[in-house]
Amino acid sequence: MRKKLVAGNWKMHGSLAANLRLLEAVTAAVKAAPRDFAGARCAVCVPFPYLQQAQAALAGTEIALGAQNLSEHDAGAYTGEVAGAMLRDFGCRYVIVGHSERRTHYGERDAQVAAKFQAAQRAGLIPILCVGETLAERDQAETEAVVGRQLGAVLAAAGVQSLRDAVVAYEPVWAIGTGRTATPAQAQTVHEFLRAAVAKQDPDTAARLTILYGGSVKPANADELFAMPDVDGGLIGGASLVAEDFISICKAAAGR
Ligand code: PEP
Repeated sequence: MRKKLVAGNWKMHGSLAANLRLLEAVTAAVKAAPRDFAGARCAVCVPFPYLQQAQAALAGTEIALGAQNLSEHDAGAYTGEVAGAMLRDFGCRYVIVGHSERRTHYGERDAQVAAKFQAAQRAGLIPILCVGETLAERDQAETEAVVGRQLGAVLAAAGVQSLRDAVVAYEPVWAIGTGRTATPAQAQTVHEFLRAAVAKQDPDTAARLTILYGGSVKPANADELFAMPDVDGGLIGGASLVAEDFISICKAAAGR
């Protein structure tokens, strides 16, 4: 049985003061009632400058730390870039790769995302590989072709075994930050498709693979999304910045 995962993606939000309030509220809730969270894994993916702050605040809790991006290179003359080993230095367990905002605003293509995925694993990080279609692509019935291509690029570069230590997040672009969520049935259909695509190459890896849903997950819709058989938790943007919402989504994943 796959243990659900809830990962917060803070995006480019926060300040030392705001992060402190948020992290204190979340860690206090976990410390006060650890059993409410024990059924799921929780993580927060914070902006680079706040890794040390978050690492200190999360110490001694079961909440894991993650980042939102990394370089495809391990080290070198790449001004402004951050290597996977640097993220490990700050205690990161996870790193998001291929978020649609990086694909759209920074031109990240499938091959570069696959290279980042491999760089994350070389550094001992668990990549959270984001895939998802735009509204236009969905309207043209291209959802499976798009997410299949995005996943296929990683399978081709890194091999199916690489997914044994990775997470996939289905994030329909039209649902991110829009308040418009995929219905549980829509999410399930795509998650099932992704798992089947992996199963064609390795059924065991597919059965173990954590596939998150992301796109306007809120406390009000988390339960029904997480009830779907192939939805193994969520990648949470806006709601991860509101302590009580994030806590409530973590509890929903834990079955509380
Ligand atoms: C995200 O940033 O990955 C995301 C899913 O955002 P939101 O929950 O705000 O839609």
